[in-house]
Amino acid sequence: MENRLEVILVSKKRNLLRTLRLPIILFYILAGFFITATVSTIVLFVNSTRRTFVKMHLTKVERENKNLVAKLESINVSLRRTQKSFDQHITQDNRERTYWQMAHIHPDIWSMGIGGKQTEDRPHIANRNTQRIIDEIYESVDVLKGKYYLRQTSLRDIHEQIEDNLYLWSHTPSVHPLPGCRICSGYGYRVDPIDRDVRMHWGLDIGAPRGTRILATADGFVSYAGWLGGYGWTVIVDHGFGFKTAYAHCQKILVRYNEPVKRGQVIARVGSTGRSISPHLHYEVRVSGMKINPYKYISNSEVIFD
Ligand SMILES: [Zn+2]
Repeated sequence: MENRLEVILVSKKRNLLRTLRLPIILFYILAGFFITATVSTIVLFVNSTRRTFVKMHLTKVERENKNLVAKLESINVSLRRTQKSFDQHITQDNRERTYWQMAHIHPDIWSMGIGGKQTEDRPHIANRNTQRIIDEIYESVDVLKGKYYLRQTSLRDIHEQIEDNLYLWSHTPSVHPLPGCRICSGYGYRVDPIDRDVRMHWGLDIGAPRGTRILATADGFVSYAGWLGGYGWTVIVDHGFGFKTAYAHCQKILVRYNEPVKRGQVIARVGSTGRSISPHLHYEVRVSGMKINPYKYISNSEVIFD
């Protein structure tokens, strides 16, 4: 009796009352089945919901990944274009080096880093295409860094060369000491205007009114300023690099011995002192002690011949 379960069925319609006596074990079986079914349903529902969310998340990640790969490819293409456009800088570098008489950088040196593809193992990247794009990006960045560094170094060398050349140019006689005035007697053998003998003339005679300002033809310092026999009042400027210029027959000297002078600086005034018959400047250029034709050291645009 105790192991049985009584189920009373009532039907009002038929005015019926019936009592069912079931074994208690059946109750436990039914209860167990019910609980198992309920729990299974809940678990299935939770799993299904979770799968849906995971699927949604996966779709989102896949989309993001696709976009990122597309962006990486775009960066890769852009870097390759930048690499190609860098060739213009190499051409420019060669032109500058030619202009400044410097040796070109060898193409093999410019190409350093090219050809050795980096294939670093990246286990976190499963896709081979993505791996390839990343490898190419690393390679492009390395090549560009190398070329940029080389160009920077080259520009520094070119700049130093320019500085050296500018210093040499500023100390090389190259302008007219009496701008706009005519050369009335050139360098070479001539009939001397005083004693009518044929004699070597070691400079240029430039006619100008007495008192005309005489300009230094390059940077340097005054190595002589005073009376010099037949030269009369004379200024000699030492420009370094073996160059010296002499300005003779002056009326007045405006600089002193050892004074630094700049190109275009007024150093004296035209006169007719010493062995001279009329106001003019006797201009000489000396290279390592040799008196050479000063005409070679005057810019042609400034020369007026008589
Ligand atoms: Zn002369």
